[in-house]
Amino acid sequence: MQPRRKPKVATVCQVSDLTPNMRRIVFESPEFDQVDPTNCLGANFKLLLPQHADALSHLDDFRNPNHFIVRTYTVRAFEPKTCRISVDFAMHDDNPGPAASWASQAKVGQQVGFAGPGPLKPLHPDAQWYLFAADMSGIAAAAAVIEGLPADAVGYAIFEITSEADKQILNFPAGIDVIWKVHAHPEKMSHQITETIKTLAWQDGTPGIFIVGEGTSLREVRQYLNEDKEIGKRDMYISPYWKIGLTEDQHQIQKRAEE
Ligand SMILES: Cc1cc2nc3c(=O)[nH]c(=O)nc-3n(C[C@H](O)[C@H](O)[C@H](O)COP(=O)(O)OP(=O)(O)OC[C@H]3O[C@@H](n4cnc5c(N)ncnc54)[C@H](O)[C@@H]3O)c2cc1C
Repeated sequence: MQPRRKPKVATVCQVSDLTPNMRRIVFESPEFDQVDPTNCLGANFKLLLPQHADALSHLDDFRNPNHFIVRTYTVRAFEPKTCRISVDFAMHDDNPGPAASWASQAKVGQQVGFAGPGPLKPLHPDAQWYLFAADMSGIAAAAAVIEGLPADAVGYAIFEITSEADKQILNFPAGIDVIWKVHAHPEKMSHQITETIKTLAWQDGTPGIFIVGEGTSLREVRQYLNEDKEIGKRDMYISPYWKIGLTEDQHQIQKRAEE
């Protein structure tokens, strides 16, 4: 586990549209020299959006909503030499929250707070093949983890995207079969990830399972894998990254109440 460190100030140094509904923002900070390059790709951090001009001098009190709105994002790429971290923001324009709205106006030179990154979520240590699935919020995490697999890794990656044009060019091991599914209205529940998993040729041996995205959709996926494939909860990593109709703060409260 990586040690907890003081949140830092990060400055926007590049903004580009990776695809129509995915914006890549690159942040730099001299303090990113403390980030472990071998253990950060796909890990998450807290993006701290300043709520007043002096907020960044209150990083020690970043949970105070008078100073910051806090949202969770993923380290997609890290360049240790330049101390730059790339983050991919899903742009949910129909119903944007503070983070997506901030990303849509982000400009070079703007500053935010950055807490983390935290530890990576481990895949099953005995995995003989892999099953990844994610919606737009989780492609960054899944892709970063897949890119770290051995070249001979085999399995599937199901990515649910908002439009055909949101397909990305990904540098995965050749044995990872990438399946793209379009879901044009992420504000409505999708059954596509479960339905697609049901069509896969299930391989022999232990799967390494990593599935992230919208919470109600993932509940169905978990139930299918648990009941039909008899995979124990501890043997798969399934994590709801957001939930239809809830802000991240409301979703966190709901998750804690369900634990
Ligand atoms: C560990 C972890 C890592 C994450 N990494 C990333 C990442 O790298 N990139 C990324 O884009 N997201 C990522 N997310 C998801 C992101 O934190 C949420 O989508 C968050 O709610 C966005 O904040 P917001 O201020 O834009 O919207 P909020 O204020 O939280 O929500 C406003 C409204 O938008 C809806 N909404 C939230 N997210 C989405 C979405 N993706 N699509 C459609 N509607 C949505 C909510 O249901 C709500 O109705 C991650 C989440 C977790 C837990």
